[in-house]
Amino acid sequence: MDFLPIFINIRQQPCVVVGGGDVAARKVTMLLKAQAIVTVVAPEICNALQNADIKRIPTQFQPSHLDDARLVIAATDDHAVNLAVYTAAQIRNIPVNVVDTPKLCSFVMPAIIDRSPIVVAVSSGGAAPVLARLLRARLETMIPSGYGRLASLAARFRDQVKQKLGEGLPRRAFWENVFEGAIGEDMLAGREELAHQRLQYTLDTAKPTTTGEVYLVGAGPGDPDLLTFRALRLMQKADVVLYDNLVSEGVMELVRRDAERIYVGKKRADHTMPQEGINDLLVRLALEGKRVLRLKGGDPFIFGRGGEEIETLAEHGIPFQVVPGISAANGVASYAGIPLTHRDYAQSVVFTTGHLRDDTLDLDWMALTRPQQTVVIYMGLTGLAEICRQLVAHGLPATHPAAVVQQGTTHQQRVMVATLGDLAEKVEAAGFKAPTLTIVGEVVQLRDKLAWFKPDA
Ligand code: SAH
Repeated sequence: MDFLPIFINIRQQPCVVVGGGDVAARKVTMLLKAQAIVTVVAPEICNALQNADIKRIPTQFQPSHLDDARLVIAATDDHAVNLAVYTAAQIRNIPVNVVDTPKLCSFVMPAIIDRSPIVVAVSSGGAAPVLARLLRARLETMIPSGYGRLASLAARFRDQVKQKLGEGLPRRAFWENVFEGAIGEDMLAGREELAHQRLQYTLDTAKPTTTGEVYLVGAGPGDPDLLTFRALRLMQKADVVLYDNLVSEGVMELVRRDAERIYVGKKRADHTMPQEGINDLLVRLALEGKRVLRLKGGDPFIFGRGGEEIETLAEHGIPFQVVPGISAANGVASYAGIPLTHRDYAQSVVFTTGHLRDDTLDLDWMALTRPQQTVVIYMGLTGLAEICRQLVAHGLPATHPAAVVQQGTTHQQRVMVATLGDLAEKVEAAGFKAPTLTIVGEVVQLRDKLAWFKPDA
């Protein structure tokens, strides 16, 4: 970061703009909006400045013009003058901006979205002002005009809320409910009086202590673009996050920056924290009043033990919500170009686990070898050879198509297409590592035509 973004109070402070053209006029407008006392130094000024509320020095620039200034902007088209302004300002330790000349700036002016008192500033540090302006245009359309009024309403209640709810979590939760709930909606829809009354009522009936809640959220198979909007919203809200090794780094990047992070492991045979420990921790954190994000790979209700975790919460009467995620089967099949059903090849699909219990696999092999069916096997890498052998022993031909996909949807995705006869051998030779998903069925052949995701390309 080349510049520290700050908002500076220049109300009733003397500021100097050198130059009298259109660019100078735009800078003057900004300074006046921030209620500065503006002096313009320029032999001539443009129309826009004729009626502005400014002091004028209608001469060439002299360093002494800066003697009392708190902030200086040079906006002339004469480089020598701009340089003189810069030097005079530096000598006097006054922040200076020479328009469109990053080298001669001790501060830069961002592009802004003004919803006063909310102001969003976007800057490229002088590197690409046009890009900053494009971004500003996008943000303009995203931030409703009523945000300013909403912030003003909040300002009116600020002290009362602080007095009643103190400094901590309950106060933050209170405001988030105000902004994201009915009161925010009222304000944005222009129903100010109603919003005001509702806010007063909500405050009068608010309790200073609250129980937290738990969000059991599916993080999808890896690619952060596959998160749901709700997942993202709750990830941004959480005070603490419990995550395991299936949650990708890209997804973790999107969790609120100042949320506490607790890794609870869960690789095969390496349960960093036993399931009961996780269940209890969720309860304890929620009882402390925290908003707890339990982030799980894929979908929490598919081989995720999500059910067990919320059972404990339900027993303790702790509020929770469950957000579905794209399960490995869906994500991996799409990114590998293998449709799980197809009119010609498969009318049903079965998800099963290949996890070994006491080194054996106790699956319903008859059900898994039905015709016109796709079988998706989670956690099936260690037992792969045995799975393929059993499927053949129960009636599928050794030439039946099957694939293993490693780290599907991510840039590390690898796909091995083979047959039940040689899949295990090929996967081992290629050195595939967990997490992998196995897909068995005629549909696997379609990958030849449908593969579209090429992480190495
Ligand atoms: N709840 C998760 C599954 C957890 S079980 C879900 O709905 O996806 C863990 C298994 O999921 C892994 O052993 C692997 O079989 C599968 N898996 C998860 N993410 C995967 C990925 N990106 N690529 C391949 N398999 C994946």
